[in-house]
Amino acid sequence: MTTERVPFIAGNWKMNLDHQQAIALVQKLAWTLRDANHDYSKTEVAVFPPFTDLRTVQTLIDAEKFELTLGAQDLSQHDSGAYTGDVSGAFLRKLEVKYVIIGHSERRMYHAENDELIQAKVAAAFRHDLVPVICVGETLEELEEQGQSFIPVQQIKAALANHSQVGEFIVAYEPVWAIGTGQVATPEQAAEVAVAIRTAIAQTLTPEIAEKTRILYGGSVKAANVAGFLKSPEVDGVLVGGASLQVEEFSGIARFLKHLAL
Ligand code: PEP
Repeated sequence: MTTERVPFIAGNWKMNLDHQQAIALVQKLAWTLRDANHDYSKTEVAVFPPFTDLRTVQTLIDAEKFELTLGAQDLSQHDSGAYTGDVSGAFLRKLEVKYVIIGHSERRMYHAENDELIQAKVAAAFRHDLVPVICVGETLEELEEQGQSFIPVQQIKAALANHSQVGEFIVAYEPVWAIGTGQVATPEQAAEVAVAIRTAIAQTLTPEIAEKTRILYGGSVKAANVAGFLKSPEVDGVLVGGASLQVEEFSGIARFLKHLAL
């Protein structure tokens, strides 16, 4: 992390926790961070619940004046119309959703999302004033055949190409082989790919945009290993899956600064 880019700690709940369970987790998380005097201006903390929880979580955050920010796990590339089951960015924005994950490897894998669709979804996020969290990452096979940066760089270039309108965005480097496996990339690997991604952003857009864009690492992050990633000035936060469902673990991750001598 650098002091110029506010570190971003994101909890991707995936298809876990119904709206009632969401209330319990968000309350406990906010109270735990409040008891620890968490300074949200120094480390932003966001939760990404399933669609059906968003209204409940938004109402709770609003009523309790929690400083957590809210994200969704996906959106439609379309704005409205005959797209059964899809959710428009306009609807998310109305719910005060700020962030939206796009191109998570589980959607690339199980929903056949390709670079073209992901690019269209990023465009939809920009249209609706949402901040896309664009996920990129290589499989184990790709790592062995092409090295670690090739696929993430290709994917981010594709996601950012040809936009008539570009807003703020975040990139999450998530090696597919590290997601939910307990196998983590080394902090050096994460930093190296982050540099390659930042260079790709500078080439596709501008060096100024690249400089201010937050680049996260994701893949089996825990409270015990988070500080290693955030020690690097290249890594600006983490996208957390499994560990975001456990308040102690996730709040421990959010409080990574305690482990860094800054
Ligand atoms: C994820 O799904 O984005 C993720 C990083 O999962 P996990 O932390 O469980 O590896």
